[in-house]
Amino acid sequence: MAFNLPLIALIGATLFFYFREARLRRQLQFALKSPYAEKRQSDERFHSIVENAVEGIFQSTPDGRYLHVNPALARLYGYETAQDLKSNLHNIAKDLYVAPNRRSEFQTLLQEQDFVRDFESQVYQKSGSIIWIMENARAVRDSQGELLYYEGSVIDITQRKNAEERLVYQALHDSLTALPNRLLFEDRLHQAVLRSKRDTLGLAVLFVDLDDFKLVNDSMGHEAGDTLLRVIAERLRNAVREEDTIARIGGDEFIVLLERLKEVHEATEIAERIVTELQPPIPIGEREVFTSASIGIAYSADGLHRAESLLRDSDAAMYQAKTRQKASYALFNPEMNTKLVERLEIETGLRFALERGELRLHYQPLIELENNVMSGVEALLRWEHPAQGLIPPGKFIQIAEDTGLIVPIGYWVLEEACRQMQEWRAERPDNPLMTINVNLSGKQLQCEDIVAQVAEILDKTQLPPTALKLEITESVMMTDFDTTLAKLNALKAMGVKLAMDDFGTGYSSIASLSTLPLDTVKIDRAFVNRLTDHKETHSALEAIMTLSKALKLNVTGEGIETNQQRRSLQDLGCHVGQGYLFAKPLPAAALSEHPYFTGVVMERSDERRAA
Ligand code: C2E
Ligand code: MG
Ligand code: MG
Repeated sequence: MAFNLPLIALIGATLFFYFREARLRRQLQFALKSPYAEKRQSDERFHSIVENAVEGIFQSTPDGRYLHVNPALARLYGYETAQDLKSNLHNIAKDLYVAPNRRSEFQTLLQEQDFVRDFESQVYQKSGSIIWIMENARAVRDSQGELLYYEGSVIDITQRKNAEERLVYQALHDSLTALPNRLLFEDRLHQAVLRSKRDTLGLAVLFVDLDDFKLVNDSMGHEAGDTLLRVIAERLRNAVREEDTIARIGGDEFIVLLERLKEVHEATEIAERIVTELQPPIPIGEREVFTSASIGIAYSADGLHRAESLLRDSDAAMYQAKTRQKASYALFNPEMNTKLVERLEIETGLRFALERGELRLHYQPLIELENNVMSGVEALLRWEHPAQGLIPPGKFIQIAEDTGLIVPIGYWVLEEACRQMQEWRAERPDNPLMTINVNLSGKQLQCEDIVAQVAEILDKTQLPPTALKLEITESVMMTDFDTTLAKLNALKAMGVKLAMDDFGTGYSSIASLSTLPLDTVKIDRAFVNRLTDHKETHSALEAIMTLSKALKLNVTGEGIETNQQRRSLQDLGCHVGQGYLFAKPLPAAALSEHPYFTGVVMERSDERRAA
């Protein structure tokens, strides 16, 4: 077999080289052609991603210029195009950032750690409006570690920031008055204490509590109460200085923080200004409401008091102010804390006093000055405290009012007093004209069913309505005049008698004597006290007597302690007297044996009078 070996070798070599070259060519093609093509494709892809991204993307130089920005960033900053943004913003720190040093912080972070995460700042848009942005960025370096540029992304977080701000605002402010709330106040107070220590300037906390706000709320409704609170907030703002903080911390409680005080009297002056500012009546709907506040002041001359104790002390001082008179202020002194503790004890104990049967009534005679006959008695409440003994009403009536306990307590008083009087009347058929006077608090009169309550008790005890005289004070008329007047008229129509108690103090006005369906006006003890050595009191009383006569009102003098007072009152035309001169308030049993009760005293007193 003849093989052409050279030919075969040639063909083999040709094929070998052909295939090797083809492989090499393929390899070469791959090695030379593919990177460019792929890179181009990939560049295009990335370019498209960057150009169409919804996030703003940038590259910027370390000295604060943009190298490249995408259209989303331009849109975010309010520019038409990326080019527009680049050519308008020459200095990112100055032209973009609301606080240019925020940009320095951004750069410092990048220099120190090569990246920043979730960096929040406020920037200006082209129009000048301000938005919140969040940036993520990194530093790009060359192989030697030299910083080349920064690159990163930006998103608009204005909406979230606004929502956050709203939440923070809501958490720190009172929604009704937009004043700071307790949380924010306490924070400011802490800061103020630190500042005060540093600057050795004084600071004061004023605790402002409205008097009788609950009356407005209960009788005129919450809307009226809200309006009142808004007006009060506004007036408080007017009374203090621009830099002072006012907060609303409870229903009708406000606190004021005064800083940089040199003397304590600067704080009392502001308290006085608040009192004055609150004086004018506040129009609510078609009515006008008078309001006042009691203010407690805690002062620290040197920032050495803790914030908590300043708050507590101003609260204690406020309670002290409340016990004085309406619309007054008191400066804290350490004794007040003891008083506050006492008050708390009373408040707790009082809740059980009624059900534990610790309440007692004492009765004080009312004496007809002309013939020295006892025409009636006033029922006066006492609390027989298991540990503290007999507590006078001055110590707990206000607390009972504040807590609303006066309503059940008042019901008990009324029932017990009527029952006792009916018992006496049965014992003394010879003196059927005796009346029982019962104090009725404003809170009781606010009760919708007060008229029904009185009717029910009269029915239960069988006391004739004409033998009951309810004593009210003028403050009960402060709110919802019409409704209260209607209730008084209804009581009057039942035959119950009405007396204006404590006339001549507080809000007493002569006008009320003619507008209310009264039978009696009781001249306050303070008035009677001044009567004998105070000319103006004498003249004022004369005027009241003249008016009472015209209005056919019976006049009772309260707190008569001396014969001289008795005589002056009688000379002025006062009909009835009540006071220690005649008898102190006594338990029912003791009164039953009292000469006034048994009728023996008449002659004796007349003798003394004649002498
Ligand atoms: P009020 O109704 O004006 O009662 C007269 C107060 O003057 C009584 O004080 C009485 O003890 C006192 N007093 C009478 N004569 C004299 C006197 O010659 N000299 C002096 N220094 N004081 C005299 P009390 O019993 O402490 O009552 C104080 C106030 O507490 C009462 O003033 C009344 O506003 C209130 N109160 C008493 N009981 C009740 C009650 O059952 N319900 C309500 N809502 N308030 C009551
Ligand atoms: Mg009274
Ligand atoms: Mg009185």
